[in-house]
Amino acid sequence: MRDFRSKRVCKIPPSGIRKFFDIAQEMEDIISLGVGEPDYNTPWNVREAAIRSIEQGQTAYTSNSGLNDLRNEIKNYLKRSFDVSYDAKKEIIVTTGASEALDIAIRSVVDPGDEVLVADPSYIAYGAGVMLAGGIPVSVPCLEKDQFRLTPDSLMEKITPKSKVLLCNFPNNPSGGVMNRDDYKAISDIVVDHDLLLVSDEIYTELTYEGEKTSAASVDDLWERTITINGFSKAYSMTGWRIGYLCAPEEMCKSILKIHQYVMLSAPTTAQYAGIEALRNGADSCREMVQEYKIRRNLFVKGLNRAGLETHMPKGAFYAFPSVKSFGISDEEFAERLLKEYHVAVVPGSVFGPSGKNHLRCSYAVSREDLMIAVGKIEEFISTL
Ligand code: PMP
Repeated sequence: MRDFRSKRVCKIPPSGIRKFFDIAQEMEDIISLGVGEPDYNTPWNVREAAIRSIEQGQTAYTSNSGLNDLRNEIKNYLKRSFDVSYDAKKEIIVTTGASEALDIAIRSVVDPGDEVLVADPSYIAYGAGVMLAGGIPVSVPCLEKDQFRLTPDSLMEKITPKSKVLLCNFPNNPSGGVMNRDDYKAISDIVVDHDLLLVSDEIYTELTYEGEKTSAASVDDLWERTITINGFSKAYSMTGWRIGYLCAPEEMCKSILKIHQYVMLSAPTTAQYAGIEALRNGADSCREMVQEYKIRRNLFVKGLNRAGLETHMPKGAFYAFPSVKSFGISDEEFAERLLKEYHVAVVPGSVFGPSGKNHLRCSYAVSREDLMIAVGKIEEFISTL
């Protein structure tokens, strides 16, 4: 029998995170700082809205773009939060998670051979998503000395005549780096002059602990060349509902919708009703969760630094990103030994791209108790190095 796998799929490396989960699954008494998922249940009023929709028999497909009420709530949320305007009917598509939004946004614009500039370190799906579309991912380093922001110099250095798209995610998974409006303004001239499209994944935007939360499209020159991606997974603890959205100028949305309607038809109906409630009445729950993440962040980062693991204070998302450079072992070895010998799971920074090297991604979306136990074990491990 011949090898049926497509060349594109063969080229994609397996997820580096998986390897650690596989080891962790075989072990008992693990404290996992490995997963990028809130440790809260979805707020009860949101769950109730979903239950109610099922009781009322709302079990059919919705329109391809999503329920009108949900798109209106998204429009209102973006206007009141960032002063960004989108037409609810023509410029917003509800998707099956930000994951689908990323996939269809990339596939709608990337042709084989196009270069996609990826702010690095980055969420692990980006490189694979670009390659599946036939594009070439090009890392643009966002360094610790710049607080993991994307700078004009770094961007300029990687632009070639083949560059078409800039894909970035702030607040950033895994570094916790945040871009404010001035940071986006600083890169906007380059994006415009080189005629790039910006795909901005803003899934962690509600989890901004310092400064104002920002949307790239709020910068005037960027709006017309930006696909904004967001969702409910992080802000409302809704990872399992599989609901997210994207916003873009009408013509872009039309072509993205062509893919969405064939591969997805519509996002899960029950989750869409839950999403309406989350945006209408979820702000308090979101605020409470964010306050708790901030307390954990402060405790955890202080603890890591005290333990001897040099860690900058992340401004957003729910990851600490300490450096292991001074220990003379790689991030992979550090993470593997910490897991096998001390039963604490973290993710080596290298899996998030070249700029993640020598770092560890540690999620603090776990209880304060577990964070403190983890810090103690990390300290013990470091004392053996
Ligand atoms: N973008 C980033 C940066 C993420 O970290 C994640 C989830 N870990 C996603 C997108 C996917 O989100 P969703 O659950 O909405 O598909």
